[in-house]
Amino acid sequence: MDIVNIIRNVANKYQAVFYLITVLFFIFGLRLLTSPRTARRGNVVSAVGMLIAITITLMYHGILTYKLIIIGLAIGSIIGAISAYALDLRAIPQYVAILNGFGGAVSALVGVSAFIQKELPRNVTSLHFYSAISVGTFIGTLTFWGSMMAFAKLQGLITERPVVIPGKNIINLLLLSISAVSGILLVNDPYNIYYLIGILVSASLLAISLTIAVGGADMPVIIALFISYAGLSASAVGFIYLTHGLIMVGSLVGASGLILTRIMAKAMNRDFYGILLGNITPPEMSKLQGGEDIYAGRIKSTTPEEAVMILEASKRVAIVPGYGLAVAQAQGPVRDLMAELEKDGIEVYFAIHPVAGRMPGHMSVLLAEVDVPYDKLKTLEESNELLPDTDVAVVVGANDVVNPTARYAKDSPLYGMPILDVDKCRSVIVIKRSLSPGFSGVPNPLFANDNTVMIFSDAKPALTELVKEYRELRT
Ligand code: NDP
Repeated sequence: MDIVNIIRNVANKYQAVFYLITVLFFIFGLRLLTSPRTARRGNVVSAVGMLIAITITLMYHGILTYKLIIIGLAIGSIIGAISAYALDLRAIPQYVAILNGFGGAVSALVGVSAFIQKELPRNVTSLHFYSAISVGTFIGTLTFWGSMMAFAKLQGLITERPVVIPGKNIINLLLLSISAVSGILLVNDPYNIYYLIGILVSASLLAISLTIAVGGADMPVIIALFISYAGLSASAVGFIYLTHGLIMVGSLVGASGLILTRIMAKAMNRDFYGILLGNITPPEMSKLQGGEDIYAGRIKSTTPEEAVMILEASKRVAIVPGYGLAVAQAQGPVRDLMAELEKDGIEVYFAIHPVAGRMPGHMSVLLAEVDVPYDKLKTLEESNELLPDTDVAVVVGANDVVNPTARYAKDSPLYGMPILDVDKCRSVIVIKRSLSPGFSGVPNPLFANDNTVMIFSDAKPALTELVKEYRELRT
């Protein structure tokens, strides 16, 4: 017996055990993904789990020969490696949206194909089989179109602004009801394809109506929600053929997507239950305070040459990265600044807000890319304990996450969002190109504080210059 037959026999006999091993790999992988230090390992562990699951499934059902599996593996690995290297880090939210969308599409396609083939597994009732098809196809279609809309918005293919259709909630409720009724009718009469079409069309329209109402910068929250939906659709599809591995892994993804959505909703001060219904409240522009009054005559502009004097006299420095750091790709110079300051015995840490940037963990990923040690990355809570005892905060392309109005301005869209208390430091150096607001559109009184100076520049040349001036000052 050749090796392939041995593997096939083992796969047939111990399929359930292998699926359980896969789930353990995923759980362990998720655990490792909770910290930047172990995240890479977490990815590898989860990928190995996925490889086991795919191989066992294909072998067990005798779907493909091992030659085709190896060819598929090679093609997938090449595409994965190229996209990982070629991907611009700023485009990660779009990338995640597309990957999610494909997950949803696969679930919907499995549902449609099961409906057409009508091959009920042993011990599975018609009610069970067609209910799973209805639910899996509905959530899969919703995830696919919702993710494609999110991709189109983030990529600038359609307007990033929230488009609110009049009577949106009633329309959504109507579409949801059409899906539910079509699903019930399909279970009762599985030979009528119009019920399946009813699910596909209403779920697609619902996805478009839900996502078109969300602004571009809120999209990552809705993407996190679609991660969860993609998992739930996979789980529902797992019930069609009683594929236990798929049911378990789908539930894991569904639950982690929901946890991520909740974390982001809290950090961005959005209503979690509103998000579940596609009601993410965009900032009300009419309530935004004009910047002119708070900035008039109070902004102190400086140069890197002058700013190094403030740094030189300090003992502890916080670097606060934001979206602008990612845009400027200034992670290298910011690491160099840390290294120069540390040579003089100055303690340096990075104050990381959970939603700084445009995707969860954005700043940690950028800083890990240039090998900033993980113990230098402080969470919001850790940073806020250190900031009152910090001499200088260097704010690089961050704005909303350091906006003190979040503490007191009740009519501000930022109100209630936890922020980094950089205004409690002795001095603040802000590097950004202008006084333009951040994603929320709210002016930031931090820039007008007595202890704040501004370097108006793109972050990369400003930091490069700062490092150069600091070196010159020391020699
Ligand atoms: P902000 O969007 O508040 O501000 C970024 C600042 O960067 C801008 O004010 C801009 O000012 C500056 N900037 C842009 N380009 C450059 C550049 N090349 N060099 C220097 N500065 C630059 O970013 P934060 O990180 O402070 O906050 C993130 C915001 O995004 C929050 O409101 C958060 O809720 C939201 N968000 C976060 C998500 C996440 O998952 N992390 C997801 C979705 C939204 P200027 O133009 O003057 O240079």
